[in-house]
Parts: sequence; structure tokens; C-alpha cells
Amino acid sequence: MATYEFTCRADGVLARTMPLGEAPPAIDCPECGNPAPRRWSVPQLRFGDSRARRLITATEATAAEPAVVSAPPGRAPHRPRRPTADPRTARLPRP
Ligand SMILES: [Zn+2]
Repeated sequence: MATYEFTCRADGVLARTMPLGEAPPAIDCPECGNPAPRRWSVPQLRFGDSRARRLITATEATAAEPAVVSAPPGRAPHRPRRPTADPRTARLPRP
């Protein structure tokens, strides 16, 4: 399916979804009934679920258009080592 656009002189642009290649050169405007000729525009193909499509688009965008950051990522917060309850670890050499 593809979205085709038609232009009515009185009512503006009308969008209709039709199978590929089956758009007529003009449709009757539902508002005024005048013929609205087809307008050539960028194809708006439908690729299934819009949520899945948004995820695919966002994933593809990270390869070509990585997000702009204002600063390098910070260091991970220092976490002190947790002492173990085993007394044998006290005899191990320390760095
Ligand atoms: Zn019209």
C-alpha cells in the first residue's frame, strides 16, 4: 500500500491509501466534488507496525547519525571493595 496525494483547488491536498500502481490520475474531491488531479510527491510506503518501524529507523540512524553529546561520558562511580566474611582473605598479599 502507498499513500497518494491529490490536489483540490478549493480544499487543498487529499491523501488516499491505495495499492501500488493503482492510483488514478485524478479523484473526485469528497468535499466539493471537483476533480482533484494526482500530485507527485515522495512515496510514503507503509512497512507494518509503526512502533517496530520507529525502532528500526532509530537503530539505523545510530550508524549514520550518532547522537550528539555535549561531554564525554563520565567515569563509573568508585565503589569500595566489599570485605569478605572469610578470615583467610586477611592473610592474602595486598597490592
Ligand atoms: Zn474540493
